[in-house]
Amino acid sequence: MSNPVFPGSAASAGIAASPGTAASPDIAASPDITAVASSAGPATIPGSTDEYPPLGELQTASLREELTRLDDLIAGRVFSPGEPGWDEARTAWNLAVDQRPVAVVIPEHVDDIAHTVAMARALGLGVAPQGTGHNAGPLVAENGLADAILLRTSQLRGVQVDADQRVARVEPGALWGDVVAAVSPHGLAALAGSSHDVGVVGYTLGGGLSWLARSHGLAANQVLAVELVTADGQQRRVDAEHDPELFWAVRGGGGDFGIVTAMEFRLFPIAEIVAGTLFWPLDRSEDVLQAWAEWTASVPDSVKSVGRVLRFPPMPELPPFLSGKSFVVVEAAIQESPERADELLAPLRALGPDMDSVHPQPVAELLQLHMDPPAPVPGYGDGMLLRELSPAAVRAFVDAVGPDSDCALLSAEIRHVGGAATPDAAYASAPERQAPEPGAVAGLDAEYLVFGVGIAIPGSGDALAASLGRLLSRVEPWRARLDYLNFAEHERSAERIFGDRVHRLRALKRLIDPTRVIRSNHPVSR
Ligand SMILES: Cc1cc2nc3c(=O)[nH]c(=O)nc-3n(C[C@H](O)[C@H](O)[C@H](O)COP(=O)(O)OP(=O)(O)OC[C@H]3O[C@@H](n4cnc5c(N)ncnc54)[C@H](O)[C@@H]3O)c2cc1C
Repeated sequence: MSNPVFPGSAASAGIAASPGTAASPDIAASPDITAVASSAGPATIPGSTDEYPPLGELQTASLREELTRLDDLIAGRVFSPGEPGWDEARTAWNLAVDQRPVAVVIPEHVDDIAHTVAMARALGLGVAPQGTGHNAGPLVAENGLADAILLRTSQLRGVQVDADQRVARVEPGALWGDVVAAVSPHGLAALAGSSHDVGVVGYTLGGGLSWLARSHGLAANQVLAVELVTADGQQRRVDAEHDPELFWAVRGGGGDFGIVTAMEFRLFPIAEIVAGTLFWPLDRSEDVLQAWAEWTASVPDSVKSVGRVLRFPPMPELPPFLSGKSFVVVEAAIQESPERADELLAPLRALGPDMDSVHPQPVAELLQLHMDPPAPVPGYGDGMLLRELSPAAVRAFVDAVGPDSDCALLSAEIRHVGGAATPDAAYASAPERQAPEPGAVAGLDAEYLVFGVGIAIPGSGDALAASLGRLLSRVEPWRARLDYLNFAEHERSAERIFGDRVHRLRALKRLIDPTRVIRSNHPVSR
């Protein structure tokens, strides 16, 4: 099998996927799952599983010896507790999460990943892949990774762009900043997250809600192929024709099905956008957010916006106009001409914002629009999807986080979703986009997304928990049926994230990873 777009990829290197047929909605009837589980098709990494003695022999060997052996075998590094570099290696992007795995592996090569999986399986350990640790909270919820190796992909950040085909191929540790830097010189845009240092793979496995989502849908729907090492230590390349059941699962089903080593996805010819933020004083929260909610119901899918309450702590890193100040803001990204954008924004500008930064700009600048932290921080947050945003829902939000609330959160936001980001729109548009049929999460069956987060500094825990709890409980009456994996920063049941599709996901997991070698932050078995 050859890969016409990226000749150096696993497919063309002979690391092939097992043959499959069209995806079936009924797992029991799907021949492809059996193929995934039993196929001798995919190439085994030379020497990977054979490098390790059988389990009985290993039980008598010390873990430290095995880790040393792995360290000698791979090009990357293995860190054991207490050795120099240990704390740095185990630290997640979210500094509030304390990760204490058996060991940390930082691979330099895809083969290192296969060796790590083989060793872990032989020792009865799990392997938890992690790009950055933005969503590490639910990963440590069970037992703090006490029986797992943390595999951090931070050294594998390559990005290849085929500008003619409008396709990017990323290594597993690539960040959105890496992709945007690689594609924007070609006048292309990816369905990137709001933050430069969110991992492309983790984001896309969970769905991927970008500033372009209302016009282009979730990032997962633009994935063309995924390469991964599964629990059996084999490298596979999956796409709409090869292992389609696994391809379905990794598009929205999260990181439970294997360790992704590469991902290929579509890009779009968007170079410029009109974007920016309107700022009002915090005490305008109610009237601004009521007007914004009404406005969102009238705008076309080319407009994506966020209504948000921000309380900036006094910090020298912040510009003086933000440091120590509180605001209600509307952030907007508008794929229209500047004139049309002005027309659309007129009702919000009529509310007299104190500051207005909306202007035409390169689409690459969207990575700054949401004012996400520039570097790792200790965060305490969580989110919820809303079916609708009625005036009563806005009032509940403002009661919880507005000027009279004594809210300890740095940010409480409502993202406008809907449009092409809904499941119905994703299924309807797939044929005309000549895109694969959507995967496990086609879209978000909700019109809005609420997310609150604060900085978890010592002594702030109770106030943050109370503020976040108040926010989520106040908007609960408008809660959608399901939650969105990427904005679920605390553990919850897999049913809550995947709904009915959880049965199909669980059946696949049982077939390809019955002993749960691969650990993810939102396991389908939870
Ligand atoms: C500041 C900030 C901004 C954000 N903005 C957005 C946004 O705009 N839109 C949006 O949709 N989400 C957004 N998110 C949520 C983000 O997409 C999730 O936190 C996502 O899980 C991050 O992926 P990561 O790889 O960076 O994080 P990680 O914590 O490293 O990974 C999360 C999970 O992804 C899986 N995973 C990661 N790498 C691999 C791999 N190679 N193979 C298999 N599984 C893997 C694992 O299960 C892992 O536990 C944001 C989060 C933060 C904190």
